[in-house]
Amino acid sequence: MDFRIPAEIIEELASYKDFVSNRLTPNLGGWYAQKQIPREFFVELGANGWLGLQSRDQELREHNPLKAALLMEHLGTVSPGVGVAVLAHVSLGTQAIILFGNDTQKELYLPFAARGETLICLGNTEPGAGSDVASIAATATKVEGGWILKGVKSFVTNGYISDLAVVTAVSDPEAGRSSRISMFLVDLGSKGISRTKLHKEVWIPSDLTRIKLEEVFVPDANLLGRRGRGLQQVLEIFTNSRITIAALTLGTAEGGFRKGVEHARKRQAFGNRLIEFQAKSFEIADFYSKIESIRMLLWKTCWEKEQGMDFRLGASIAKYLSVEAARAIGLWAADLFGAASVIYEHPIHKYPMDAWASSLGEGTQDIQKLIIFRELMKQDMPW
Ligand SMILES: Cc1cc2nc3c(=O)[nH]c(=O)nc-3n(C[C@H](O)[C@H](O)[C@H](O)COP(=O)(O)OP(=O)(O)OC[C@H]3O[C@@H](n4cnc5c(N)ncnc54)[C@H](O)[C@@H]3O)c2cc1C
Repeated sequence: MDFRIPAEIIEELASYKDFVSNRLTPNLGGWYAQKQIPREFFVELGANGWLGLQSRDQELREHNPLKAALLMEHLGTVSPGVGVAVLAHVSLGTQAIILFGNDTQKELYLPFAARGETLICLGNTEPGAGSDVASIAATATKVEGGWILKGVKSFVTNGYISDLAVVTAVSDPEAGRSSRISMFLVDLGSKGISRTKLHKEVWIPSDLTRIKLEEVFVPDANLLGRRGRGLQQVLEIFTNSRITIAALTLGTAEGGFRKGVEHARKRQAFGNRLIEFQAKSFEIADFYSKIESIRMLLWKTCWEKEQGMDFRLGASIAKYLSVEAARAIGLWAADLFGAASVIYEHPIHKYPMDAWASSLGEGTQDIQKLIIFRELMKQDMPW
């Protein structure tokens, strides 16, 4: 296996880093205070081809998985909250159309989504159903020309700023657990939709929104994928997005790590810089080893995806380990800053909080362990 990153990806990553330094970093303070990401930011990302899709030979193609992961990892080091907003649009909402949209839906929505002009979120979680995706209660009742959707999607990233939401609902209540759900593309401007922005302390400045659907008419043309296959479809979206959230969380770990090391190099205590205490140097060596090993696993998983191989096991391990590392490193880095770390405006504050949020997206740590165990048991003991 060749571990060198292709030259064109290195070049693109360099322009992306410049863009982030010039267009994101100076604005972050304001966006954090307002807890809002301006829509223009997505348009700027889109104009540079950084929203997961690139136009080639007049056709929109998905980014190479390694490139997508590297871009997301970098965003995670600077602002996991902005990173998750990009993830929600690219790897959840838009990905649903890439994977399950028909030609008309792809033509209608993907060019606008790739340019950041239309934002798409995904609403699956409900007050009574999170990890247990199949137990959702929102309903879709068939009527002439379409469906009437009713229910509540309780935690939707980008739900407030998006134009469209990919929504799961029970379309066939009499069918078995695995064939009663369908997936719909819902125009968030439709009659019967109300949105409440939730107050949260993680992944700022992205929004987390409760979307209530009261008798919302969705035309037949907006059924996404096959009727009754919504459960399998949403799980497939989560499997793909697990690579993205692992990259985001690796970036979160790295962002906290860098800030911690920089501080330990400067801060004096008992006549030494913090970094000169052997206890701290061991911690730094330990955390760097974790970051580097997760990065290798993530790259391998990206490679498996690119080769069309089964990447479920790698994606879940990468997500699981990146969350464990980001939580530990975030807390360690915050500790190094002493009392300053608890001040809301202090930049270190967000890393442990955002690592905590990462544990919930695309399946909790328990769910990752369930998947890892299940995938392992399918194998013929190569270990
Ligand atoms: C900031 C944020 C953004 C989010 N964005 C979105 C979004 O864009 N779209 C969306 O649809 N959802 C979103 N979610 C919701 C998220 O996907 C869910 O919170 C997550 O799936 C867990 O569901 P739950 O909160 O209902 O917890 P539960 O499923 O009730 O889990 C509670 C606890 O039980 C454990 N548990 C559950 N089942 C098992 C089991 N079988 N074995 C062992 N332990 C188990 C879990 O690990 C957890 O510790 C978001 C959540 C947050 C916090």
